[in-house]
Amino acid sequence: MVNQERLWQRLMALGEIGKQPSGGITRLSFTAEERAAKNLVRQWMIEAGLAVREDAVGNLIGRREGRDAGAAVVLAGSHLDSVLNGGNFDGPLGALSAVEAMQCMNEAGVQTDRPIEVIAFTDEEGARFRFGMIGSRALAGTLTLDELEATDSDGVRILDAMRQAGLNPAKISEAARSKGSVHAYVEVHIEQGKVLEQAGLPVGVVTGLAGPLWLKFTIIGQASHAGTTPMSMRHDALVGAAEILQVIEHETRKEERTVGTVGQFSVFPGGVNIIPGRVEFTLDLRDVDADTRQNVELRIRQQARQICDARGLALDVQVLQDIDPVHCSVDIQNTVYEACAALGLKAIPVVSGAGHDCMQLRDLCPVGMIFVRSKDGVSHHPDEWSSPEDCAAGAAVLYHTLLKLATV
Ligand SMILES: [Zn+2]
Repeated sequence: MVNQERLWQRLMALGEIGKQPSGGITRLSFTAEERAAKNLVRQWMIEAGLAVREDAVGNLIGRREGRDAGAAVVLAGSHLDSVLNGGNFDGPLGALSAVEAMQCMNEAGVQTDRPIEVIAFTDEEGARFRFGMIGSRALAGTLTLDELEATDSDGVRILDAMRQAGLNPAKISEAARSKGSVHAYVEVHIEQGKVLEQAGLPVGVVTGLAGPLWLKFTIIGQASHAGTTPMSMRHDALVGAAEILQVIEHETRKEERTVGTVGQFSVFPGGVNIIPGRVEFTLDLRDVDADTRQNVELRIRQQARQICDARGLALDVQVLQDIDPVHCSVDIQNTVYEACAALGLKAIPVVSGAGHDCMQLRDLCPVGMIFVRSKDGVSHHPDEWSSPEDCAAGAAVLYHTLLKLATV
């Protein structure tokens, strides 16, 4: 159905752009590397018979007309940017699978009712500005000029980077799609986990994406002399924090899918012989179910409060980011299962612990994702790998899914 060799060769060719001597791929948004990647994919889109354009935020779009040019469009794609020293599959597989599916439809002379557009979103990863999903936010119409003030490590604002790339930030609203103009969005992506590998299956049907809640805990105690302050008279912020960390692990483990991570932790003043007077740490809490995540959050907050009260510590919890979990469209999930069945592939439901562009499109259109098996679950790393056969399986499932979604 799809041309495995062509898809693989394109993946490998794209992987040459931004390749680092130290290993891995670095393609940050609005850089020469990202530009080169988009130019190459543009050529393949043209080869696939698509009408290519770029929108106001730099999303690369290849359109294949349907019988009804005015019908709501079916969108499929992913992103071409990477993290620092990232892998070759996270993003490119989704964009190139969609190009491959379109090329195969043209080769087979297949006509669809709805138009289909392949999209390569601008900056999904957020690796450069610590603010990602820029292209999908713009498409959803939620990207604001204020958000374009975020800067990279050299102090360059998104605004400036866009201008340097020949884009006009004042026009970002032109990239927005109106409600009703997009029938569905589907993305092929590597799993970035081990569920499919352990199940021995090439593809999975994504049921939902866990939304990250980021909290910052600040615990204030009393810094004092480590030698002269008796244990009974201490207000040690670090010991309180240690207890809270255990609560976090305990409460998340009670749930099937909740994950909680303390990734940043600072102790002040940080002297060998000073009782810690202040501790700050972050918590990344995720679950695909919003209620479950909220319940876990509440239990953690309550117990953290009790621990601090008992130890005479002050506690402050600040919300840094709160993204709701996203449920994939059940209709699209069923369409993907049908596509798998048509190809003789067994597929299982999987949950995405990572965020993807479709999270930004949740209010614009129904969304769905097809996961492809990742070797050892490794991602955001030079060793990221999916086999040519598995990549082709993902593209073939996408082909059938798009065919069905584009039929009225
Ligand atoms: Zn990705």
